[in-house]
Amino acid sequence: MAIIGIDLGTTNSLATVFREGKPEIVSNALGNILTPSVAGLDDEGNVIVGESAKERLITHPDLTVAEFKRTMGTDKGYYLGQQLFTSQQLSSIVLKKIKNDAEKYLGEKVEEAVISVPAYFDDRMRSATKQAAELAGIKCERLVNEPSAAALAYLYDHGWKDGTYMVVDFGGGTLDVSIVDSFDQVMEIIAVAGDNQLGGKDFNDAIFNYFCAANGLLEGDLTAEHRAAVYRMAELTKIALSTNPFAVMSVIIDDKEYSVTLDNNMLIKIAHNVFERVHDPIRRVLKDSRMSIDELEDIILVGGSCRMPTIAAFIAKVTGKTPCTDIDPDTAIAIGAGVFAGIKSRNENFKDIVMTDICPFSLGVSILDNYTKDEIMSFIIQRNSMLPTSKVQSYCAVNNNQSQSRFDIFQGESIYPKNNIKLGTLVINYDPVNAGEHTADVRLTYDINGMLMVDVTSKDGVTESKILMGSSRLSQKEMEATKERLEKIKFADSENEEDKLLIARCERIIEETYSFERDVLIDRLMWFKAVVDRGNTVEKRKVRAQFKEFLDGIS
Ligand code: AMP
Repeated sequence: MAIIGIDLGTTNSLATVFREGKPEIVSNALGNILTPSVAGLDDEGNVIVGESAKERLITHPDLTVAEFKRTMGTDKGYYLGQQLFTSQQLSSIVLKKIKNDAEKYLGEKVEEAVISVPAYFDDRMRSATKQAAELAGIKCERLVNEPSAAALAYLYDHGWKDGTYMVVDFGGGTLDVSIVDSFDQVMEIIAVAGDNQLGGKDFNDAIFNYFCAANGLLEGDLTAEHRAAVYRMAELTKIALSTNPFAVMSVIIDDKEYSVTLDNNMLIKIAHNVFERVHDPIRRVLKDSRMSIDELEDIILVGGSCRMPTIAAFIAKVTGKTPCTDIDPDTAIAIGAGVFAGIKSRNENFKDIVMTDICPFSLGVSILDNYTKDEIMSFIIQRNSMLPTSKVQSYCAVNNNQSQSRFDIFQGESIYPKNNIKLGTLVINYDPVNAGEHTADVRLTYDINGMLMVDVTSKDGVTESKILMGSSRLSQKEMEATKERLEKIKFADSENEEDKLLIARCERIIEETYSFERDVLIDRLMWFKAVVDRGNTVEKRKVRAQFKEFLDGIS
């Protein structure tokens, strides 16, 4: 039974396995490293995940969903046709696909995984991720913070050198900046800061808006298909600018071509607020860790958006230090998760390495201020405390003859609870006391996986405990029901995955192409579909290769 490491990304997911003393990247059923975190339904109503689902984002937007990790742990629903799913359920579908493909690749059962999550994921999002794994039939005892995983990959690659590093992990939907210290085989995260609503998507949005404005198009007037096509071209234009001095973005809408030319200077201009937002967590993490840039051994860049030369240049400009770009930003986190799986299974090579983690946000309860009687925070666990941590705070009565206290537990940095995230409530009763007298002690315990436990002990010695549940954390009964529902979902046959991908790709190109070229494409598509329907394996193999070559020649 193998333990795999999974980078469950906003945009792409991938897996690694720790074998023969090293992390090995697992190829998916298509032989690719990255599986787009996109889920959809095919024409027969079966679930598809990955590349072919991504291709169908444009042609079948109502049957396909992407970027759902952003709402992990919330109740937000996504429709696939008539069926409604939460982010957790969709993630579980992606995880199941990763698991199935890994089992095929490894030729053995995968039972357990170490899954990476953004450091800024709160309790609810972490629990939802673990339960998504469980729904997919994967045991997940440990989550690993993405920056910790990135640092692990760096240290694995560069040798276990003592030093302090900054990890900038800039993906499709989140930015995490961390200070990681490696000393004497102990890897410690000293501070993290980030923005879980900032990612490559924001550059796509900026290009999308620029394109629409430059061509006099109103977003609201575009059909879902056209919007998806413009969005896709915006992303491709951004990616093209990573290796080219300029890029032409052009989209056909109702047989009319709209276009715009962009270079990196223009990108900096139209997305200046996105760059500025990248600076904030860098500033914050240095302040929190009380480190100066000179004390850093290196700056490690990971995440797809760090492929943008403008990002590396921006970070070099604001820090005055040239970042390291020699680890693959796409695979670093999965490799780190794989190394962590090795540590977890007590692999010989790693038995001495200790990983420590921190709580990336402050936790506390709301209290009434003595003077103003406003609700303010009483912080119990400070942001960036080392995990596991358990802290206790005593509280007093506000009124005379008080016999009950209500503790609302919040996560966040604002002094005002209303600006923070409420995690739950505990109420405790006791024999009456007067104002100013001791009522109860609140203990918050935050474990190594970021799970939060609250114990409130009254002055009379009675303790009420609660593992804080976010809205999407399911009870055992709900888990069973969800599992049953997901088990009923039929996955598309992975044998034909490559054929489905080629068909989806051709359909997408047809939608994006001029009409006279369309006829050729339609002709080729139908020819390929007929071969697939005939099901002759030898013929299919030959024609598939030709069809793929044909499509590769177009896009
Ligand atoms: P991740 O979540 O780490 O997979 O990162 C995905 C994000 O990286 C998406 O927004 C992609 O558009 C972006 N990305 C991937 N490759 C490149 C590239 N070569 N240049 C610019 N952005 C990229």
